[in-house]
Amino acid sequence: MIVMKEGATEEQIQAVVDRVESVGCSAHLSQGEVLTVIGAIGDRDRVAALGLEGAPGVDHLVPILKPYKLASAQFRKGERTVIDVDGRRIGGDHFALIAGPCTVESRDQTLEVARVVAENGAAMLRGGAYKPRTSPYSFQGLGVEGLRLLDEARTETGLPIVTELMDVRDVSDVVEVADVIQIGARNMQNYSLLAEAGRTGLPVLLKRGLSSTIEELLMAAEYVLKEGNEKVMLCERGIRTFETAYRFTLDLLAVPTLRELTHLPIVVDPSHAAGRRDWVGPMSLAAAAAGADGIIVEVHNEPDQAICDGPQALATEAFAEYAEQVRRVAEVAGKQLATV
Ligand code: PEP
Ligand code: MN
Repeated sequence: MIVMKEGATEEQIQAVVDRVESVGCSAHLSQGEVLTVIGAIGDRDRVAALGLEGAPGVDHLVPILKPYKLASAQFRKGERTVIDVDGRRIGGDHFALIAGPCTVESRDQTLEVARVVAENGAAMLRGGAYKPRTSPYSFQGLGVEGLRLLDEARTETGLPIVTELMDVRDVSDVVEVADVIQIGARNMQNYSLLAEAGRTGLPVLLKRGLSSTIEELLMAAEYVLKEGNEKVMLCERGIRTFETAYRFTLDLLAVPTLRELTHLPIVVDPSHAAGRRDWVGPMSLAAAAAGADGIIVEVHNEPDQAICDGPQALATEAFAEYAEQVRRVAEVAGKQLATV
């Protein structure tokens, strides 16, 4: 990592980039408010041999020892990444509540849920048009028609859309509608999909795999970042353990751990871990208290009729009270809330 001096010129920065690239390494530029940092990715010895210490505009060099470089807290020198999604900020001191159905089922369902969450403090609308289902015989999502309904919901409510990209072949359809691309837990290590999502330049919400370590999650984020896309948020959504009393074990220690290891915003999904709506509230408050930068939660207008994940969906009638409680705890944790 090459830290440039405050006030380093464009020419000096470019000269360093050129020299890094001249030895077959790639240079990732990160321009913060005051400092410019250049990540030289490639053979460490070749970068060292360039003797960049003392080059014009260079302040100092820091070796990053973690296997993930661009995602590491060190790479941003403690500065936190704040992602702005159409005016809703997430990360740093900013907290965003993302809410909506598991899957887009119909026009009425999508618009009704979107209206309720928009009126009650959600910053973004979630909803899957492509669904990763355990069984190939289960509903797989409405596909392009689902994307169209999400687009309509955005037009009506103004809420940015968070929706899942499951397959590289759908990327051109998904980018038409998505404001944030969700990469599902089952695809966390689908490296070609991660790179493709990175290349779209859209913010990416990357969910932790069911059996993935924190380090594997950060390595997955690195695949997106490496494409020059700095807008990655990480999502803890519950992992597999020996415990069977609930759907997944919500690993809330991931929140302070990630805060230490990375500058990227941290989101918690209490819905998929709990699997039951009465546990979603308490886990959301715990996540906000732990310092999460956002929560992604499932909401349905008729949870008992939901095609997918009904038992864990909050009812629209319960959303206002839920969102208010989350807001209060997030504020106690020192966050400002992003709303429409
Ligand atoms: C979802 O968000 O609806 C979903 C399928 O999540 P996950 O990938 O975490 O299982
Ligand atoms: Mn779901």
